[in-house]
Amino acid sequence: MSVAGAQVIDGEAIAAELRDELEAEMQALTEAGIRPGLATVLAGDDYAAQAYERRLRRLAEELGCHYTTETLSPDVEQAEALAVVGKLNADPRVSGILILRPLPEQISESQIYRTLDPLKDVEAVHPVNAGLLALGSPRFVPSTPASVFFLLDRYFQDSGRDPETAYNGLDVVLVGRSNNVGKPAVWLALSRGATVVSCHHFTSLADRLAEHTLLADILVVAVGSHGVVNGDMVREGVIAVDVGINPLEDEETGKTRLVGDLDFESVAAKAEAITPVPGGVGPITDVWLLRNVVTAARLVRPS
Ligand code: NAP
Repeated sequence: MSVAGAQVIDGEAIAAELRDELEAEMQALTEAGIRPGLATVLAGDDYAAQAYERRLRRLAEELGCHYTTETLSPDVEQAEALAVVGKLNADPRVSGILILRPLPEQISESQIYRTLDPLKDVEAVHPVNAGLLALGSPRFVPSTPASVFFLLDRYFQDSGRDPETAYNGLDVVLVGRSNNVGKPAVWLALSRGATVVSCHHFTSLADRLAEHTLLADILVVAVGSHGVVNGDMVREGVIAVDVGINPLEDEETGKTRLVGDLDFESVAAKAEAITPVPGGVGPITDVWLLRNVVTAARLVRPS
């Protein structure tokens, strides 16, 4: 499908293909007597985190994985949260652990991450796994940035360019530098031979965001603010990937719908290709996370 001349990249279709591959791998694992297991830790009552947990539970169960979730109260203390991670580390049915964000403010995210068994750290948030990724030899590639580059690789391939060389010398501009999305995306872009610019809230405060986004051959936006980049801030022919997920209330109907960080219409008017929200990066992320759980199960018990 194309909108205003831009190819709209179909994340649902890519996720479906990835899921087919995963189902075949699950079949092989079952025959080898291995059952991967995912554990999620959900603290607090964040709407998006709860929705993500439900999607992962459904997908894990449909694939035949063991699944469990630990629900912690919003006022949970650090010691209790650490003990829950320790329990999951020791549980042989659990091959991968996902700590859902946001965590309550009294909880130290970095301390929780350091407590994870690195072999079960499917989002590569433990310093060892983050370091391996930064050095270009990842044990796990975190699901959201992995999905961004899987989708881009696929787009290049489908449009007749070799993903092995297509990034060489291109300017990849990332907006957002979180530990789970923006920073790992920097490493993945560098590993593909791109020239990388990482923007964040100080870039915007200095009123210099457009200066950088206008340079992008590939623009990846992961901020959590609808409209942070619009058509005036991108160049003709950009490939734009929207990671953001933001609730937006429709003024006429009063209903809430999800939108991305890009001002979709104005960016699509100039883009070569663009991802929609919903239906872009998100569906691939869910499958990728389960793919990492399967990788983790193989690490512990290679078949
Ligand atoms: P986060 O941890 O809140 O990080 C947001 C980043 O955006 C920070 O690096 C922040 O800069 C930067 N930022 C904030 N305001 C900015 C501005 N005006 N201009 C430039 N940069 C700005 O969020 P996250 O976890 O990375 O998630 C980002 C978005 O992606 C959210 O909407 C989230 O829901 C979505 N998401 C989607 C998926 C998916 O599967 N599609 C997965 C994960 C997240 P500083 O570091 O300087 O504060």
